[in-house]
Amino acid sequence: MSARPAVRLCHLYPDRLNIYADRGNIAVFHRRLGWRGLGLEVVEIGLGDPVPPDCHLYYLGGGQDRDQLLVADDLSHKAGPLRRAAEEGAVVLGVCGGYQLLGHGYRTADGRMMPGVGLLDVETTAASRRLVGDVAMDVTLGGQTQTVVGYENHAGRTHLGGGCTPLGRLRRGHGNNGDDGCEGAVAGRRVGTYLHGPLLPKNPWLADTLLGWALDHAGISVGLAPLDDHLEQSAHAIAAARAGRRP
Ligand code: GLN
Repeated sequence: MSARPAVRLCHLYPDRLNIYADRGNIAVFHRRLGWRGLGLEVVEIGLGDPVPPDCHLYYLGGGQDRDQLLVADDLSHKAGPLRRAAEEGAVVLGVCGGYQLLGHGYRTADGRMMPGVGLLDVETTAASRRLVGDVAMDVTLGGQTQTVVGYENHAGRTHLGGGCTPLGRLRRGHGNNGDDGCEGAVAGRRVGTYLHGPLLPKNPWLADTLLGWALDHAGISVGLAPLDDHLEQSAHAIAAARAGRRP
């Protein structure tokens, strides 16, 4: 199938922030566009590279504290162009370590403070006990509510300010901080979540919601035709069942 590049995606630090195969989220964007005859162009950027201003989607995966420490200072120099792109309507997705760095900052358990880029009004501090396990949550975006599933493993406790809302209401799992029943954060087209696994292969609705926003930002109004998602739905059902078995 022909695939003209419809969406340009900037993948930040692909070699450093890729825990639990978070790179798989990009494969999902690629395939779900390709199945509709649309292309994805991926621009990978690392330490010292400028942020391309004209991407429709910016993506940061998760990482251990040591990986985050390697990129956090560099990322803080990228905050201006990232913020401008987001203000112009680009989609921004951060997973776990990437989510934490989209906020105001992350303090590790040993007291090291990493700056964030402030695209999400959240603040994270690590605790000694990790929050680990399968997650199921209800997510409302674009007037639709769906169950989103995934896996979390983080020391960080994230608290939201007034500038964003939780991405999900937990059915199962620990979420942002283990206390308030919420997971992730959303502000316009900026989304942060702790869910790995990776996130998108078993949550095709969420993948298409993000792609719809990116296409809109690209000025492409083709609409996303329904796909045969029976494999994705099986993966979703298995992950939901796993989350349901948690004590
Ligand atoms: N290092 C962060 C934490 O433990 C993020 C971990 C991750 O990306 N899985 O909170």
